[in-house]
Amino acid sequence: MGAYYNENTVLWLNGAFAKATEAKMNFYSQSLHYGYAVFEGIRSYKSHTGETRIFKAVEHYDRLHQSALALNMPYTWRTDELIAITYELLQKNNLQDAYIRPVVYAPDNMKFDQNDESFLVIEVWKMEPFLGEKLLRVMTSSFQRPNPKGFKITAKATGHYVNSILASQEAKAKGYDEALLLDMNNNVAEAPGANLFFEKNGKLFTPATGNILPGITRATVLELCNELGISITEKFFSIDELKKADTAFFCGTAAEVIGFESLDDVKFPMPWNKTLSKQIQDAYKQLVIEKEFKQSLALA
Ligand code: PMP
Repeated sequence: MGAYYNENTVLWLNGAFAKATEAKMNFYSQSLHYGYAVFEGIRSYKSHTGETRIFKAVEHYDRLHQSALALNMPYTWRTDELIAITYELLQKNNLQDAYIRPVVYAPDNMKFDQNDESFLVIEVWKMEPFLGEKLLRVMTSSFQRPNPKGFKITAKATGHYVNSILASQEAKAKGYDEALLLDMNNNVAEAPGANLFFEKNGKLFTPATGNILPGITRATVLELCNELGISITEKFFSIDELKKADTAFFCGTAAEVIGFESLDDVKFPMPWNKTLSKQIQDAYKQLVIEKEFKQSLALA
């Protein structure tokens, strides 16, 4: 117990609500031994009218389904039923601004072969809204992202996160806030748990898909750029090109939109408040609480 649950916390486990302190997991699960499970990271927000709203619920539960299929895990749940269960779970735990973590895991199996069933747990915990006001000091990681020829990298599989943990721990041990990882071709890929954009001369750029987890927040930022008339290009680029940017940011469900102060020893020159990236950050903040954002932006 601690940050995530206490004696009153309820989770949803294989068809029923259960107390977190009483729920059991199989220690012989293939998931525990080999990192063979899939999961989602979802957020709910108290909307500007006071209701609880799960942001991009359909997209997240559809991705959970796709991740399970990519890993040959049986998947028997429907997105609409899981969304309804999640709203009920939030209510039972008295949460509005929350982090939602479904995990699909395997039965007991010490071999590498396929299973004929999967299990599903959904956990929720409190998350303060809008953590992303400060700017990050980022380090180029010595770890590369997993090679797409070795993993199904568009799946959100638990085993991939050993790479994320190593990179994040390395960056923090060296005094940085977060890591930035390259792909196997030495192009810029992503953070341990977020995608990246950079801004140069009034235009935004983000790594093309292929070697990254194509995030739901990334897709949302692409949509916001289109709505706000901001030029956005998806392409492969080097760390040297990124270091010549005006500014950069990470984006993800947990991170939301969070700007960079520096990358390694390079400080980004443009004040965050003057960037288009800041306008994207503001628009995203409004979007998650379902507030109209266009009027609130000082568009050039
Ligand atoms: N890349 C990685 C490796 C991630 O773990 C995440 C978080 N799921 C993201 C990108 C951002 O994805 P999303 O916007 O869907 O949260």
